[in-house]
Amino acid sequence: MNLRLTCAAVAVVALVWVSAPIAAQNSTRSGQAPSAKGAAVRQSLPQKIDEEYTKRIKQNLQDPRISTELVDHLPASDTVPSPLKFLGRAVGTPGELTYAKDISRYYEALAKAAPARAKYWKVGTTEEGRDIVLLAIADEATIKALDQYRNMLGELTDPRKTTEARAQQLLHTAKPIYYAISGMHSPETGGPEMLIELAYRLIVEETPFIQNIRHNVITLITPVIEVDGREKQVDTYYFNKKRAPGDARLPLMYWGKYVQHDNNRDGMGQFLKLTQTVTKETLEWHPTVIHDLHEAQTYLYSSTGTGPYNNEIDPIVVSEWWTLAQNDVMEMTKRGVPGVWTYGFYDGWVPNYMFFIAHSHNSIGRFYEVQSYGPDNYEVRPGATVTSKEWFRPNPPLPLIKWGPRNNTNIQQSALLFSLSHVAKNKELYLENYWMKNKRAVDKGKNGPTHAWVIPATQRRKADAADAVNELRLQGLEVSRAAAAFKAGGLDVKPGDYIVRGDQPFRTLADMYFAIQNYPPQNPSPYDDTGWTFQYMRDIRILPVGDKAILDQPMTLLTADAKAPGGVEGSGPSTALGAGSVTLVVDHTADNNLVTFRFKNKDVKMMAAEDDFELGGHKFRAGAIIVPNADRAKLEPVLKDLGLSAWAVAAAPSVKTHDLDIPRIGYVHSWSRTQDEGWVRAALDTFGVPYMYFADQKLKDGNLRSKYDVIIFPHVGGSAQSQVNGPPMTGNSPLPYRKTAETPNLGYVDQSDDIRGGMGLQGLLELAKFVQEGGTLITEGSTTTIFPEYAITSGISIEEPARLFVRGSILRGKITDKKSPIAYGYDQAELPVYFNQAPVFNVASGFGGGRGGGGRGGAPGENPNAGFGQNVTPNAVPLRIQPFEPQPAEATPTAGRGERPQADEAAAFRQLAQQAGFAIPEGRARVVMQFPANANEMLLSGTLSGGEALANRALAVDEPLGKGHVVMFALRPFWRWQSQGTYTLGFNAIMNWNDLDAGKAPAGGRGTATQPQR
Ligand SMILES: [Zn+2]
Repeated sequence: MNLRLTCAAVAVVALVWVSAPIAAQNSTRSGQAPSAKGAAVRQSLPQKIDEEYTKRIKQNLQDPRISTELVDHLPASDTVPSPLKFLGRAVGTPGELTYAKDISRYYEALAKAAPARAKYWKVGTTEEGRDIVLLAIADEATIKALDQYRNMLGELTDPRKTTEARAQQLLHTAKPIYYAISGMHSPETGGPEMLIELAYRLIVEETPFIQNIRHNVITLITPVIEVDGREKQVDTYYFNKKRAPGDARLPLMYWGKYVQHDNNRDGMGQFLKLTQTVTKETLEWHPTVIHDLHEAQTYLYSSTGTGPYNNEIDPIVVSEWWTLAQNDVMEMTKRGVPGVWTYGFYDGWVPNYMFFIAHSHNSIGRFYEVQSYGPDNYEVRPGATVTSKEWFRPNPPLPLIKWGPRNNTNIQQSALLFSLSHVAKNKELYLENYWMKNKRAVDKGKNGPTHAWVIPATQRRKADAADAVNELRLQGLEVSRAAAAFKAGGLDVKPGDYIVRGDQPFRTLADMYFAIQNYPPQNPSPYDDTGWTFQYMRDIRILPVGDKAILDQPMTLLTADAKAPGGVEGSGPSTALGAGSVTLVVDHTADNNLVTFRFKNKDVKMMAAEDDFELGGHKFRAGAIIVPNADRAKLEPVLKDLGLSAWAVAAAPSVKTHDLDIPRIGYVHSWSRTQDEGWVRAALDTFGVPYMYFADQKLKDGNLRSKYDVIIFPHVGGSAQSQVNGPPMTGNSPLPYRKTAETPNLGYVDQSDDIRGGMGLQGLLELAKFVQEGGTLITEGSTTTIFPEYAITSGISIEEPARLFVRGSILRGKITDKKSPIAYGYDQAELPVYFNQAPVFNVASGFGGGRGGGGRGGAPGENPNAGFGQNVTPNAVPLRIQPFEPQPAEATPTAGRGERPQADEAAAFRQLAQQAGFAIPEGRARVVMQFPANANEMLLSGTLSGGEALANRALAVDEPLGKGHVVMFALRPFWRWQSQGTYTLGFNAIMNWNDLDAGKAPAGGRGTATQPQR
């Protein structure tokens, strides 16, 4: 690159200035920007360079091309400690990582040393009790009036309260807030390191470039948002460094308490503390931009995405993405830095990422994906799909480059500084856009077509509806309650019904969540889920209102959590008869709190009705909980608190019942992957279901039935075989995951002296024995495939249809066996379910079920998504110019289907099973839910192609085995704190664990599996 400014040249020409002391400036009224003239007359003197630090920057940089004049030096300061002074090393030093607690200490020290330009405070606490912190940086006048600047953005947020005249004034006086976040994905280590240096530079440096940023933008930084994961990551890095060559290296086992990478899929569910913290800060500060720093691309990807973009996003945002990204690409390309690009990664569709919190609040969310920090030096040799020159990648990454942590620091710090500078220079544009977006959102409510949404308060799942309202309120959506009965459109609104007004700024959030998604498969392959419709996932009613008059109806804004009406109803005998003679019948409404009620009162005898019945004019669904001789005084407050309704009667209804015996629950995880199971834990923890948590290795210890009644084994991922075998037994020494003096942050949530090896065949045998002896095993997602693939169960086969394409969609599930305890409480024939490509169950229909297409469709090795998806790197595979001489034909690659147990491994297992003395019986699986027969009826939200392969395939199966049961969910009942509508399927299986045969059709009838009930 001939025109590139060399690093050395840049260093020579770099103009570094220091401004005169602040006291010399004209004092400005707080809240008002000092005039540009005032800034211009500032006396400027050259600023001293920190020679030692600058020397290290040069030493550590692996390739001089990855630098700009912004980051090739560090300014010196007499008062503010540099990272080298404070932490003992320069940012970008190979072989070193910094703990979050030390980054926080440094930020605190920065604010202490430069209180006029920086402010530090704690903004949250993680699940494991660590602090989440924030540093604000701006010039002296701005920091002094920080609250006033925050309030100005608050005014621009709400056109209902702010006049146009006032807004026009604010566009000149307010300052955009740029909120940089990093350290969410703990193995992506460079963002937090870079932000150490960026904070110092923003506070100390006196170039006009940095002064302009300080003067016109308020920079907020949370350097590590997943604090728990960062500390574990640093421990893990240093632990591995000391391992002998050839020994297995420890992967980062847990990040936060619950999930790993999915901590960036919590934007809608907002279960995790880190997401809640960013939302809280967003609602308080109204950041103009939220910028999240990641590491997964070569060398720096600045987000725009390939599309399709989220339908509900204000179109202005799309232009803002592009403007900001193009500015990054242009400025870096101008300086000859290769490999800065946009577009060809990620789509922009699903709002479950953290930075989408900005979009649902009319701000701008964006992210970088940077070449990994390391922290050890390495070489990068990307393939042609990365190095080809494309329209979105005018100066592509090189075929080979020496990389290291300083490269990572340089490239992302430079780009981020160019972004800050761009927003500083164009602050009025971004403030105006923000104001416009808020105005347009409010206008949408006035102009329609959707003026409001009504969430009936007394709907069947009233407790879950109240929960949903509260979660929406936490995200900033205003919810009101109808103060009187009225008609809106065709809808009868009752007093107390929840109303989401459409004429509020954050209605964007309601639009995003409540919309139905339509993702044609011809689009680029989706990056994540394609369907998320809030009310479908939660199985609650949220009704759009197209009648503008609703806005004038009497309603009051909710100012505290909503609570569903609950308690004891009905005309049955009440207190007059005294405690001990009342029977309480608790309606099973599929509300998730029902399981809480059961486990909160575990010493109270409770029974479940096995049929629908009517009592005192009220229709009860099977599963209604009957509490004989109830202590009403004790139970009524609990019911009230949980928003559940019970009826008091003199005698138990004449319906068949079974006892709800409290199970001892074991919960199995795999050391192969701790990513997904946390969402199941999240649901159990929140709804008060206790369990013993242990690794699958421990299954080998046996005697499971004596310890547990229920074992929950959530999705791990991978084939049945890989799930049984676990992490490979590589290396000569054990691979411990333990809390030690050297690894104080490890050993949480679970520990092991050696994480290698999984349950193995021995553990699998013990698991099968557990079921044979009367235990209930609950599996979901990938773990459902283990028993069928090892032929432990006989009624189900796992299919891998080649032409099926369904990526995180909401599909129609038919409840085919309403008498199964798993379906208790659901009074409808159909339920929206989350489904993501696999597993596909075929339940053998030995009784003339007549299911079609049992085999594996499509050619082996065929890409399920072949023919779909836009090729975003068309030049990566150049046209083949035919040579004059004919070429030999190339063999067609045959990728083959997924790994499965080898025939000899399955045989070995059967032998083991025989030795253990049990035969695999001919099972009679009970299909509780299944897909519709007609593919055209399946898709509710998201994407689907080749749905024929799902016709009549089972979604929830209860297979008897010996004295016990295996419950298998192809749908994911506990998906990412979003699928609350299906939690109860799992909770029902837990509560009714030893009565799952209730309501089962007599043997030979086979009716329940295939005949829809209505
Ligand atoms: Zn990431």
